[in-house]
Amino acid sequence: MFTGLQPTAASLHIGNYLSAIKGVLALQETHECILCVVDYHAITVPYDPAQLYQRRINIAAEYLAAGVDPERVTMVVQSDVPEHVELAWLLGCLVPVPKFEQLPTYKDKKARYGSAGFGLLAYPILMAADILIYKAEAVPVGKDQQPHIEFAREVARRFNHTFGPTFPEPHAEINAGAYIPSLDGQGAMSKSSGKGTLNLSDDEATIRRKLARAVTDPARIRRTDPGEPTRCPVYTLHGCYTPQPELEQIAAGCRSAAIGCLECKRLLADEVVADLGPLAARRAALLAHPDRVREILAAGAKTCRPLARQTLDEARHKMGLS
Ligand code: SF4
Repeated sequence: MFTGLQPTAASLHIGNYLSAIKGVLALQETHECILCVVDYHAITVPYDPAQLYQRRINIAAEYLAAGVDPERVTMVVQSDVPEHVELAWLLGCLVPVPKFEQLPTYKDKKARYGSAGFGLLAYPILMAADILIYKAEAVPVGKDQQPHIEFAREVARRFNHTFGPTFPEPHAEINAGAYIPSLDGQGAMSKSSGKGTLNLSDDEATIRRKLARAVTDPARIRRTDPGEPTRCPVYTLHGCYTPQPELEQIAAGCRSAAIGCLECKRLLADEVVADLGPLAARRAALLAHPDRVREILAAGAKTCRPLARQTLDEARHKMGLS
């Protein structure tokens, strides 16, 4: 299993936690896992170099605080294994440019930032190389990243067809909590937009305040107005935390106006605080002594480089480069 998360914010948010991190926690029981802090991806859009290094440490600390076991999961920083980039170059030579331009993330980010560098265009081939260099078969991702996994599968097929069987075709492992909407109602919760997020670094008061301000079903203007929970981001989060019988009561209470939004949000805040509070304490303890995190990442690079080198040498040989 391979998964990567970009260090594009000071902290991961609850959407990352409920999709990617929970996916890793489940898979670490059954798979050989590589968890990668993909810093080369983070520099494909405007960023602050003064913050990038610390963000790499933060993200690793958050995975550990959430329960990732470094004895079972290899944690590594992408730029510590430069073989990823060389494989991306080899694979990129097989893909026509329009294939890159069609991917939704490229179009979205190009629109958001007003222009796009080569790194943003090439992002999916580097992501394919990240996965294929370890011959990973399972990749836990959010639904928005599914087209990139399809792209990686296609790249593997092209390479295998042209140069002989080399790469397994990876498949996406979509977690049930994969789509977490932004609390401001503007699409999915996103690190890079930084708006409408519940962060793993938030304390209890911040979590409660953010949830109290979250948008709800626009039809519920007054307490007595009936609502439709499926239009409400608060309800989506309830779906990740609240047991089924209580969830059904909330849905029925929303539709009949028996429950108000304040009460509904308070119930959710209690669940989220109970889950994220201990995680935030472990995160703070790890960041107070970051040498342990650095050691884990350095050990990860030591493990990953020979694996990556082996695949790269195989690909180079099949392509006539050695
Ligand atoms: S009662 Fe709950 S689910 Fe319904 S609109 Fe309000 S916050 Fe959303």
